[in-house]
Amino acid sequence: MHEMSVAKNILDIVHEHVQSEDENRVRSIILKIGEMSGIVCDSLEFCFSSLVHNTPLGGAKLFIQTIPISAECNFCNYNSRLEYGIFFCEKCHSSDIKIISGRELQIVQIELED
Ligand SMILES: [Zn+2]
Repeated sequence: MHEMSVAKNILDIVHEHVQSEDENRVRSIILKIGEMSGIVCDSLEFCFSSLVHNTPLGGAKLFIQTIPISAECNFCNYNSRLEYGIFFCEKCHSSDIKIISGRELQIVQIELED
């Protein structure tokens, strides 16, 4: 399952950034996920919570900010906000567009309890 490997990557990154004695203080992990990244957020949350269950990171929650898909038209330069699967310029209907956001998958912040 794709989300399981993403959840493992997130854990690896948390382990790199948080000292092991501080892991039980991790409250939240804030992620940016593009609508085009192919990640199902519910599934990712499920995979993550099953990985951290009964570990020092068991109290950590994922907070996911969804990034919409947008694209710039190579023909008229208009920036379109796209629905997933519909890839043409809103203004001139050209399909010659380049995706400028929506593929993100990044950790924005790891928040620790004081
Ligand atoms: Zn256009």
